Amino acid sequence: MPQPVGSAAVLGGSLAGLLHARVLAEAGWRVTLVERDRRPAKAEFAGGVPQARQAHLLMPSGLNAIERLLPGTTALLAGEGAQHLGLPTDIRWLTPAGWLDTFSSRHSIVCFTRPLIDWALRHQVLSHPGIETRDGVEAVGLTVAGPRIAGVRCRERGSSDRSETVLAAEVVVDATGRTSRTPHWLNDLGFDVPEESVVDGGVSYATGLFRRAEDLPVGRALYLQPRPGHNPRFGVLLPVEGGRWMVTIGGMRGFTAPTDPEGFLAFTRELRAPDLHEVLKGLEPVGPIHGFRPPPSRRRHYERLAGLPEGLLVVGDAACTFNPMYGQGMSVAARSALVLRGLLSAGGRGARGSGVATSAAGRAVGLPVPTRRVQRAVFRAAETAWQMASSEDLRYETTVGGRRGPLLRFQHAYLDRVLSAARSNRVAQSAFVDTLSLTAPPTRLFAPGVLWQAVVHGGARGRRVEP
Ligand SMILES: Cc1cc2nc3c(=O)[nH]c(=O)nc-3n(C[C@H](O)[C@H](O)[C@H](O)COP(=O)(O)OP(=O)(O)OC[C@H]3O[C@@H](n4cnc5c(N)ncnc54)[C@H](O)[C@@H]3O)c2cc1C
Repeated sequence: MPQPVGSAAVLGGSLAGLLHARVLAEAGWRVTLVERDRRPAKAEFAGGVPQARQAHLLMPSGLNAIERLLPGTTALLAGEGAQHLGLPTDIRWLTPAGWLDTFSSRHSIVCFTRPLIDWALRHQVLSHPGIETRDGVEAVGLTVAGPRIAGVRCRERGSSDRSETVLAAEVVVDATGRTSRTPHWLNDLGFDVPEESVVDGGVSYATGLFRRAEDLPVGRALYLQPRPGHNPRFGVLLPVEGGRWMVTIGGMRGFTAPTDPEGFLAFTRELRAPDLHEVLKGLEPVGPIHGFRPPPSRRRHYERLAGLPEGLLVVGDAACTFNPMYGQGMSVAARSALVLRGLLSAGGRGARGSGVATSAAGRAVGLPVPTRRVQRAVFRAAETAWQMASSEDLRYETTVGGRRGPLLRFQHAYLDRVLSAARSNRVAQSAFVDTLSLTAPPTRLFAPGVLWQAVVHGGARGRRVEP
């Protein structure tokens, strides 16, 4: 094996951690993946990712990014029973503007239980000889040498021995998810902490699994979106592996999704259309219903920190989380790993650039690009998803935080028109789906053909919208 370029520690062995670890290993780094939990060998629920019991679907841009990073993952998932659905043709979809008459699908989404994709990624990533895993080890702090990162303070989880060890690393990637402690660790070391943008829609989730029958009147999947100002409840029925349906219900602030079977069924009666309720009445549950209250959408602005220790990167949910209703978090994490790969390969395998220092032994230390530049690129990879999710949450009066004003009102009014036109117009629909699936930038919604449809056919006149 060639000499490693250097040593990197990736904290958190879930989706973002696995993908970023693999990118670093392929660029020649010796990577230690530190995970607080003991990860199961099979596709089973692990406590460190509590949201894993809730519906998780992978958007086309995420699937595409993962396939580019780890060729063969799509086939691996399909072989294990993950379900590919044409977006939007395989989904009976009630949008805030009404039912979508679907035309054709240029994209597909993948539906599975979250443990399945976590297992598939572990299977794909950990085969790399440059990655060593440390399961059951919790990162509890960082160490620095002047302005550079020098390592991670670690502790065995669940052991009565509270002693710490230091894992030396030139590069540390924080992928510890929503509960990331990096702001506290930076503060303890006397570094600036990132500013935060927070938007809190107060969303609540509950999910159950049911035995799947193939001949349901709703087709392959059903999505009943909320309608701001009218009905903030949503419901979704997705096919997943193991011949099961996954049913998730939820609502914005003030509408807690129940986890008892009677309450769960009763909640579906209050959705904007009866379809899910009618289907659910006949389904056989396989296991209990699990509730979850996701914390607010939070963006930590590491990209603004001039004094971030060189060699420290924060990725995935640790950097930016969204209201999960829009299904984007995993895709953003995968795109971030792709961005890192692009920047590393631009520097060349083992090449060193302007962000690099030299060790006492004359060896170059650090990434081939300044980590602040990488952090900015990671920030940009999340930008569209953040804008989309936070501005949609701000349609609800009960949402706390965020910035409201004339620009947001214009944005909402224009998007209402695009969506209204998208119900029955092919051009507007494909722009809407491309943007939602993160395969096109939001500017696609302002392309001349879409603008025309929005202005001419997107008005409220003649529009029938369910409550
Ligand atoms: C209810 C819900 C539904 C969602 N649905 C979707 C969806 O449909 N589609 C989608 O794309 N996204 C969805 N998401 C978002 C998705 O779950 C996250 O974006 C994704 O898991 C982010 O991955 P991550 O690796 O950054 O963090 P996580 O998956 O949260 O993983 C963090 C990891 O770090 C470990 N860890 C934490 N602290 C430490 C420490 N100190 N030391 C070592 N290890 C540590 C944890 O054990 C865990 O393994 C949903 C989220 C929620 C809450």
